[in-house]
Amino acid sequence: MKVLVINCGSSSLKYQVIDMRDESVLVKGLVERIGIEGSQIKHEKTGCEKHIIKEALPDHKKAISLVLATLQDATHGVIKSMDEIVAVGHRVVHGGETFSKSVLIDDKVMQGIKDCIPLAPLHNPANIMGIEACQALMPKTPMVAVFDTAFHQTMPASSYIYALPYEYYTKYKVRRYGFHGTSHKYVSARAAEMLGKKIEDLSIVTCHLGNGSSLAAVKGGKVLDTSMGLTPLEGLAMGTRSGDLDPAILPFIMEKEKLSSKDMGNVLNKASGVLGISGVSSDFRDIEEAANSGNERAKLALDVFCLRVRKYIASYAAVMGGIDVLVFTAGIGENSIGLREKICEGLGFLGIEIDSEKNNVRGKETIAQKDGAGVKILIVPTNEELMIARDAVSLSKK
Ligand code: ADP
Repeated sequence: MKVLVINCGSSSLKYQVIDMRDESVLVKGLVERIGIEGSQIKHEKTGCEKHIIKEALPDHKKAISLVLATLQDATHGVIKSMDEIVAVGHRVVHGGETFSKSVLIDDKVMQGIKDCIPLAPLHNPANIMGIEACQALMPKTPMVAVFDTAFHQTMPASSYIYALPYEYYTKYKVRRYGFHGTSHKYVSARAAEMLGKKIEDLSIVTCHLGNGSSLAAVKGGKVLDTSMGLTPLEGLAMGTRSGDLDPAILPFIMEKEKLSSKDMGNVLNKASGVLGISGVSSDFRDIEEAANSGNERAKLALDVFCLRVRKYIASYAAVMGGIDVLVFTAGIGENSIGLREKICEGLGFLGIEIDSEKNNVRGKETIAQKDGAGVKILIVPTNEELMIARDAVSLSKK
């Protein structure tokens, strides 16, 4: 029983085929530069060398058609025919208030995803292209949409309403939605399993720290608060995104630097965060290296990043009336021993105490609090593709 998972961006596309009998990944790949000169597929069959195919891919349909052909290739493929794929799971970024869980895609669902385009003008159109291309090439295969926003739909209004004129919410749906939901859901459920506890009995703070970063307060398996907002710009300082700031800075800088709203959006999304502060890089490995060799602005960028994560963790203890479990995931959360340690510094008053020896791991499921500490600290590699594949199978059976 094999499932194809598709994560379609505007010019790129990630895919995996997962065998659901044992949830093993048979192949994963990345199509880059769709619609741009120099397009290629990096196709990695488990246990084999990476296979690179350079071919002009003018649109998503051509890209997916080549992916499907490669999946059936005698040497590099993992299936004999497309009939072996029982379902396709599509990652969709924004489900607005319409989608609070994954759904089997039909015309009404497609319209719902299209209606969310104003909320994610860069992402949802790309996701739609991916779905439509698959539908055209695999008309009989069930398709399922899995939304980044869905898990956060349990947030109470007090967490999602901005202190703005209420009509912006009713007229334009301006509210907090949150992202990385599939990851927060996976790692919170996995954390409960690792501890041998029921998720219903736990107050968990999940820290998804990657290029984009967000936290969620998950009490009894439901999200009560999360750090990203209407868009993935709010919250933590990220690789290139500013996260929270005084909104009055926007008109101030726009006037000083003669920036349009689009220019300002670019600065906040692409030139800010730890890149903006350090001037070094958006990649945390580069920044840690620069900081270790004495670069003061790189050190400052890491201090800003860690302080903000720490403040969010403490505030989520307030949101949930306590915290039982702290989970780290994604590129930085899974791999940066130093940043996990630095984030936990000073949180002892909440019972958060990380053990330096147990914390000395990368990319491996680990329980890392000091003996006797009140809060369990877990490192859980995220697996959004597996979550998408599981939903694709269960919904396609219905
Ligand atoms: P994305 O949001 O693109 O999925 P990832 O979750 O892959 O991002 O995270 C990418 C980030 O993780 C990068 O900033 C990278 O520097 C960081 N990262 C990966 N490995 C390490 C490591 N060993 N130490 C510190 N940071 C790391």
